[in-house]
Amino acid sequence: MNQKTGAVLVLSGPSGAGKSSLINKIINDIGPTYFSISTTTRPIRAGEEDGVHYHFVSEEVFSQDIEAEMFLEYAVVHGNHYGTSLGPVKKALKEGKLVIFDIDVQGHDAVQHRLGDITTSVFITTPTLLELKSRLKNRSTDSDEVIAKRLEMAKREVQRISEYDYLIVNDALEEAAEVLVSVAKAARMKIPTLQINEFIQMWEAQG
Ligand code: 5GP
Repeated sequence: MNQKTGAVLVLSGPSGAGKSSLINKIINDIGPTYFSISTTTRPIRAGEEDGVHYHFVSEEVFSQDIEAEMFLEYAVVHGNHYGTSLGPVKKALKEGKLVIFDIDVQGHDAVQHRLGDITTSVFITTPTLLELKSRLKNRSTDSDEVIAKRLEMAKREVQRISEYDYLIVNDALEEAAEVLVSVAKAARMKIPTLQINEFIQMWEAQG
């Protein structure tokens, strides 16, 4: 029923919990999707590509984009700006796609306010804080100082798990991916309030 209007799947969770790996693993198994590429002022990491992982911009450009009301939501995360561009999201929703966001808890809050009736949310985390620490260290893309900041942030983020529809503990990638596929498929079936009314009218009219 929701094929026409599209739907939103928000994924949040600490950096290093494996969100990107999970998304890459399932993206071809869940039907038409649009993965929202955020804009950020954080420095590009080794292995990342501009326009693929993020649109990397200066603080100045980011401020201009805020002024021009380009963002569905934006927030400061770990001292850098991150924002979701509204244009491509609107387009993808019109095309009936499942729009996937990898955003933090503040972003989730904003998306719930604006698109709550078509949004399904999932919090993804490691089994323990210790495991998160070890994954961030092994990734060796961030300095000790940045890792410490991310761990502090993670401790705060997990306090807000109850704001999400689902929790996925990413212990084994295969299993976590299987659960996420089910959630993504169900997310498409979420019925926007307007459509419920239309459906009821149509259903009764043919009585
Ligand atoms: P990272 O720097 O590790 O790629 O991402 C840091 C955090 O920023 C992650 O929790 C990620 O979900 C979040 N994030 C990425 N893009 C956005 C965005 O557009 N909006 C918000 N609110 N958070 C974002």
